Amino acid sequence: MEENNKPIVNLISKPKNMLKTVYTACRTCYSADYPINIFNSTNDEEKMLKLIERVISSGHYSTIEHIQVTFAISNVSRACTHQLVRHRHMSFSQKSQRYVKEKGQFDYIIPPTIEKNDELKAKFINFMNKISEQYQEFIDAGIPAEDARFVLPNAAASSLVASLNLRELIHLANLRLCTRAQYEIRTMVKMMCEALVAEEPWLKPYLVPKCERFGFCDEDKSCGRMKTREQLGF
Ligand SMILES: Cc1cc2nc3c(=O)[nH]c(=O)nc-3n(C[C@H](O)[C@H](O)[C@H](O)COP(=O)(O)OP(=O)(O)OC[C@H]3O[C@@H](n4cnc5c(N)ncnc54)[C@H](O)[C@@H]3O)c2cc1C
Repeated sequence: MEENNKPIVNLISKPKNMLKTVYTACRTCYSADYPINIFNSTNDEEKMLKLIERVISSGHYSTIEHIQVTFAISNVSRACTHQLVRHRHMSFSQKSQRYVKEKGQFDYIIPPTIEKNDELKAKFINFMNKISEQYQEFIDAGIPAEDARFVLPNAAASSLVASLNLRELIHLANLRLCTRAQYEIRTMVKMMCEALVAEEPWLKPYLVPKCERFGFCDEDKSCGRMKTREQLGF
């Protein structure tokens, strides 16, 4: 993607002691000790990671729901955010097209396939300009923004604050880092994962496409990166 078309993604909130919190949740299930004692007495990272890996790979996912992270996201298309908001365990606050009137040319995202073709890019921009003019005519005529926005395209840029717990983030990464996911949401989710991994490197093995986590591809149209279930005979 062109830099000016790239999502802007920042991790703005995460708990302290993420690893220790998940470990305490895991250990509490198998210990007679009080959780607070487990929390206060543990600092061995290798030991914590070993238990966490065992618990997560056995599907005991409630242990990772205690961790909530928040991202500030901008410069993404409504086409992209529409896909993100399908994830039902996430919380969103998105720039409203009802309350925020577009002034002048609205911001929009040009897909790279169009961006790299000069002729098609010029047509795309021309079309956005026409939409902008029509939108402005409606606004000037006193049409409320909530109605004028009906002419705004999927390409219109948006901003949102998005929060989710670690279980949902792993699920999001597994689905949306897959090469079958659309390029823009894939780029955005990759940036979300990278921002968190920069601060919590132990999460790297979990924030991967589903084929890497499960060892096979379950997509109908596989990209060929991993063997499909059929190829593996199950
Ligand atoms: C490559 C790709 C292509 C897609 N194409 C289309 C498409 O053509 N059309 C379309 O409409 N959508 C499409 N989607 C969106 C997809 O159908 C899901 O809506 C989206 O990925 C959210 O996934 P989810 O439901 O697993 O996750 P989330 O909503 O994030 O939920 C996480 C998990 O919680 C559980 N869960 C959540 N809600 C319920 C519930 N009500 N009942 C039972 N369990 C629940 C499920 O286990 C679910 O996997 C596509 C997604 C991808 C990744």
